[in-house]
Amino acid sequence: MVEPIPQPSGVTQEVATGTLPAWAQVEELVREAHQRYRDHDEGAVADYIPILAETDPRLFGLAVIDRTGGVHDAGDARHPFSVQSISKLFVCALVIEELGHDLVRDRIGVNNTGLAFNSVMAIELNDGHPMNPMVNAGAIATTALMPGETSAEKWEHIRDGLSAFAGRTLRMDGQVYRSEARTNERNKALARLLSSYGRLDEDPLEVVDIYTRQCAITVTAHDLAVMGATLASGGINPVTGDRVVSPEVCRDTLATVASSGLYERSGEWLFEIGLPAKSGVAGGIVAVAPGKGAVGAFSPPLDRAGNSIRSQLAIGHLSRSLGLNLFASAPDS
Ligand code: GLN
Repeated sequence: MVEPIPQPSGVTQEVATGTLPAWAQVEELVREAHQRYRDHDEGAVADYIPILAETDPRLFGLAVIDRTGGVHDAGDARHPFSVQSISKLFVCALVIEELGHDLVRDRIGVNNTGLAFNSVMAIELNDGHPMNPMVNAGAIATTALMPGETSAEKWEHIRDGLSAFAGRTLRMDGQVYRSEARTNERNKALARLLSSYGRLDEDPLEVVDIYTRQCAITVTAHDLAVMGATLASGGINPVTGDRVVSPEVCRDTLATVASSGLYERSGEWLFEIGLPAKSGVAGGIVAVAPGKGAVGAFSPPLDRAGNSIRSQLAIGHLSRSLGLNLFASAPDS
């Protein structure tokens, strides 16, 4: 096992804060970002899950929710699509909430694989270690850790947990679930491989089934922004006012997603955009600005790593215009 990074003891964690521009200005900038990329048509819609190939590539939604629950929606912000890999972010938070920081670091890991989200090589190169909760192998291992005596109970916990993040009851799209369940041999292979290394305590196929269900949960760009804003607000959903997870869980989850949320492109993403973010193959991306709020974006055409191109462009634009980049600093003036 890798040596843990030494931690200073007895020092209180101060919170990074800062404010977004005034509501009307944010509204204007969200509209501007949407307009700017509305006609951008690079990329290809995912087709390895057959039903996703039928998605209209022109759909484009953008939403910002600030930490007070202020809403800014543009374009197709309320158009439903499947959450796919973005579920990994929120399931990771729920598992850290249940089992704690150390267990997730040691059992799943928090380092980038440098390889594709569904890589078999990543497992082989790391002695069967799932590496991080944002790639398929690590996400399957994380889903297996959800509380619940049975698969049905684990699934209910996931659906209820993601609903608490969104502030409304989320449902699974049966068509998306069945389309992926018929074709997910690779995820089954990943789970069996983890199992062969003793990294999965549950039945691999049952865990993949729960994972496939969680990926088929329907959300909108607006929902993603509310879900992300909950992580930006120390775990309190800014729309419902309900506590979903603790502030420490938000911190740990955002650190995890910063290093691997956009898979092998996560380093470039941090370099260019400077925000923890998670993508899904249906075209969604959520980016979180701790202490400020979150951006949810949806546009189906993807780059080769499986990240929505227009969502990346629009979030990049907003990161600059709203001053969200975590690494941007200036001297006191
Ligand atoms: N359900 C998809 C899969 O397991 C999710 C992948 C993704 O969104 N990148 O392949």
